[in-house]
Amino acid sequence: MQNYRDYVKQIFPLGFEDLIYYYELTEYNGNYESYFQFCQENLLTQWQGLDFHPCFIYFRNDKELQALARRLSTGEGIIEINNGLFEKLNDIFYQNRKFISSLPGVSQLEDENLMDAPMYYLMFQELMLFLYYHELGHVIQFSQMNMMITERNMASKGFDNSLLLHVMEMDSDEIASNFTIHHIMATWEKAPIEHVPTNSLKL
Ligand SMILES: [Zn+2]
Repeated sequence: MQNYRDYVKQIFPLGFEDLIYYYELTEYNGNYESYFQFCQENLLTQWQGLDFHPCFIYFRNDKELQALARRLSTGEGIIEINNGLFEKLNDIFYQNRKFISSLPGVSQLEDENLMDAPMYYLMFQELMLFLYYHELGHVIQFSQMNMMITERNMASKGFDNSLLLHVMEMDSDEIASNFTIHHIMATWEKAPIEHVPTNSLKL
């Protein structure tokens, strides 16, 4: 376990102090905390063979629906998740929790407490994990380049003009898919086999 405030102090020397968002006193505290703890531990323990430089994640104090990956000229990787994006996605899934619970098979899983959390929350978590791995994919791509990618700009009309950027997005999506699927499988493995959809989730 890392304390978020202590952790982000490591980023201060890199020049991000004014941008950092602190979530402890918000209603989203628990969701931020579990996401941060997973990501920081994953960055610290799972990727040493790929890069000799550390990679950090933090939440940026910015309402824009945006996430960003960058590699600094000094070598460190940085993943930024805007608090506006995190909270908007959290709200969307929460507001649709009754609809999600009504989907075929979901209510039974929830009623019998066969999942770790309500389905809307598991879906939100999987989406945020996909985002994390996608941004990490960009940081890995940048090991040979000094550049930065902002997701919102990548989705703009200028995007199609660059084959390189197009390929980098697809590559990051593939990285994210390959890792996120293991989280989804781990979730399903906790459910009795009769509840697992038979025509999906086969690797
Ligand atoms: Zn991207």
